[in-house]
Amino acid sequence: MSFEQVAHFIGGSWVAEGEPFASYDPMTGQVNRQVHEADQAVVDRAVRAAREAAPGWAALPVAERAAWMRRLAEGIEARFDDLVAAEIADTGKPLEQTRTLDIPRGAANFRAFAEIAAQRPAEAFHLPDVLSYTVRRPLGVVAVVVPWNLPFLLMTWKLGPALVAGNTVVVKPSENTPGSAALFAEICASVGLPPGVVNVIHGYGETGRLLVSHEGVDGVTFTGSTRTGATIMKSVADRVKPISFELGGKNAGVVFADADLDRAIEGSVRSVFTNGGQVCLCTERLYVERPVFEEFCALLAERAASVVPQPMISAQHREKVLSYYALARDEGAKFLTGGGAPDGPGYFVEPTVVTGLPESSRFNREEIFGPVCHVAPFDTEAEAVALANDSDYGLAATLWTSSLDRAHRVAQRLEAGLVWVNTWYLRDLRTPFGGVKLSGIGREGGTQSLDFYSEPTTITIKL
Ligand code: NAD
Repeated sequence: MSFEQVAHFIGGSWVAEGEPFASYDPMTGQVNRQVHEADQAVVDRAVRAAREAAPGWAALPVAERAAWMRRLAEGIEARFDDLVAAEIADTGKPLEQTRTLDIPRGAANFRAFAEIAAQRPAEAFHLPDVLSYTVRRPLGVVAVVVPWNLPFLLMTWKLGPALVAGNTVVVKPSENTPGSAALFAEICASVGLPPGVVNVIHGYGETGRLLVSHEGVDGVTFTGSTRTGATIMKSVADRVKPISFELGGKNAGVVFADADLDRAIEGSVRSVFTNGGQVCLCTERLYVERPVFEEFCALLAERAASVVPQPMISAQHREKVLSYYALARDEGAKFLTGGGAPDGPGYFVEPTVVTGLPESSRFNREEIFGPVCHVAPFDTEAEAVALANDSDYGLAATLWTSSLDRAHRVAQRLEAGLVWVNTWYLRDLRTPFGGVKLSGIGREGGTQSLDFYSEPTTITIKL
C-alpha cells in the first residue's frame, strides 16, 4: 500500500473505509498522509475480526506464540529503514534517535516478552495435604490506544506482552502518527501472522472512544494524557473491564551539591530536551542544592542554547507549549535561555530554561510536554524530597549525587514509579514501569505485563 493513503488493517486485509483526514509533517507543516477515520462500522469489523481469531491464538502453546514474536522482531528488522522513515515523517524526530531508540526498541519489545513469557515458572503452593496452583488465560480481545510521542516504541511495548499472553488486539495509534503502525500491519501480513490477531484502525479520539467502549473488548491498555485516561475510565466503567494506564508526568530532577556536575548537566540536558521534551519521562522541574545552583543554571542555560530544536508534533501542541512560555513571562519568570519560537515552517519552539516561579504556579504544576524546565534552589535533603513530591503526578524522578547513602535514602522517599540515580531513561524491560498519582494505574513491564494481559484462575486440590 502507498504511504500517502493509510487504510485500516482488519482480519489480514486492508480496509479503506471512513472519511479521510489529513496528517502533517511537523518539520514543514505540510500534509504528508491521508488517513481513513474508523467509524462505528469499521470498529465493529475490527473487533469482530479479533474475536474470531482469539480462540485459535489462545490455544497455541506459549512457545509457539513466542516464536511468532521473534518473527515479528525479524520482520521489523527487515523493514528497519522504512520504519525509520515513517516515524520521522510523522514526528520529525532526529535520525539518530529513531535509529538507535524508537525502532530497535520495537524489535526488542517483542524479543523481551517472548523470553519472559516462555521462561515464566508456574505458580504453585504445596502443603502436606493441599496443592494450589494458578493457571492464566488471556483476557481475549485487547484494545490498545497509544499516543504520538514514541509511536512505535509504545505500541510494541503493549503488543509484545498482549500477544504472547494469548490475546488478539485492535490497535489505534494516534491520529498524528499513523505511519509506523500501518507499516507494522504490513509486517504482520508479510511474516504470515494469522489474520485477525493484530488489527490496526486509525482515527481521532472518537474512534478510540468507540473502540474502548465496544462490548467485544475484554481489556483496555492506554498510554496518553491523564485527561484522556479519565475519559476512558468512564467509558469502560459500566462494563468493569481491566485497564492499564500509563499517563502524564511532571517529573522532578534533584541535583545535590556532591554530584558530578558535568554528568548532572549532561543528564539533565538529555532528560529535559530529548524528543523536544515530548517524552512522558522528561524532566520539567529541576531542584538544585544552593551551593551549586548558580553554576548549574549557567551551565544548563549554555548547553540548552546549543540544543538543536525539534518540532512539536502539531501546530496545536506548539501553541500549547508557547502558551506556557507566555504564562511564565506573565508570572515574572526569569528566562535563562529560549522562550520563543524560531521563524520559518514547521512546529518548532526554542529549548527553554526558566527560574523564579513559585511552586504553586501552573507552569510548575501542569505537564507542558515541551523542551522546557523550571530550575529552583533547595537547602536540605528533606526540602528536596518535599519539593519533588509536591506534584499531582508521580511518573519518574532523577537524582544526581555521589553519596551512596543519600542515593538510596532519597530514591526510596520519592513518590514516583521510576527513580533514576545518576542516569535517565535507562530501562531493563523486565522491571515494572508506570506511575503513581495522576501518572497512571497499574504497571507494565516484565511479568507485570503478563499479569495484566491475563486472568489467573487458582485451582486448589485437597490431597
Ligand atoms: P492523548 O491522551 O491526547 O491521546 C492518546 C491516544 O488516545 C490517541 O490515540 C488519541 O486519539 C486517543 N484518544 C483521545 N481521546 C480518546 C477517548 N475519549 N477515548 C479513547 N481514546 C482516545 O495523548 P497524546 O497527546 O497523544 O500523548 C501525550 C500524552 O501521553 C502526555 O500526557 C504524556 O505524558 C503521555 N504519555 C505517557 C507515557 C507513559 O508511559 N506514562 C508515555 C508516553 C506518553
